[in-house]
Amino acid sequence: MAKYIDADCRLCRREGTKLFLKGERCTSKKCAMEKRTGVPGMHPTTRKKPSEYLVQLREKQKVKRAYGLLEKQFRGYYEKATRMKGKTGETMLSLLERRLDNVVYRLGLGASRAQARQIVNHTHILVNGKTVNIPSYQVKVGDVISVKEKSAKSELFAAVKDAKVIVPKWLEFDSAKLTGKVVALPTREDIDLTIAEHLIIELYSK
Ligand code: SF4
Repeated sequence: MAKYIDADCRLCRREGTKLFLKGERCTSKKCAMEKRTGVPGMHPTTRKKPSEYLVQLREKQKVKRAYGLLEKQFRGYYEKATRMKGKTGETMLSLLERRLDNVVYRLGLGASRAQARQIVNHTHILVNGKTVNIPSYQVKVGDVISVKEKSAKSELFAAVKDAKVIVPKWLEFDSAKLTGKVVALPTREDIDLTIAEHLIIELYSK
């Protein structure tokens, strides 16, 4: 019997890598990438050597999809990075990591970036004591990210206190208080996705 692979998992198969879009499932044996790694709907023998453009495009799509962004939003990060000091690719990735929805995900308050975005949209998150419901909000060093007192008692965060989440070194997290802090800006080595960001820069520079 054919097995149903849902839309998020199809994105991982399309990009040929785990994009961690479905929370716990992504680290379990149920992950579709553990079973099937081919491109959805395409027989392996029909694939040709991809062009340079296609390789660059796929790299861009991979990162865009991992962070759950639309093309216009994603390109905005590239353009902002070009106006900043440092290597454009690394700066772009750092800006993506500093999105509030990503920080909520990295702290383990959301099982996936999609869920983290919903948590932010539904006003469960405070930054420095004030409600912020903008997923793209850029955190800065010293920002304190916490869960609203009322929300902290909800089922949504019941499992977080006991979860064993490895928080990246640019963040700190107190699981008892459901509170995190930005202690540094994310660097290239803090980004765990396998990304060749120079390919994205080459694509957008054309
Ligand atoms: Fe699906 Fe997550 Fe595995 Fe991707 S990493 S295929 S979203 S379970």
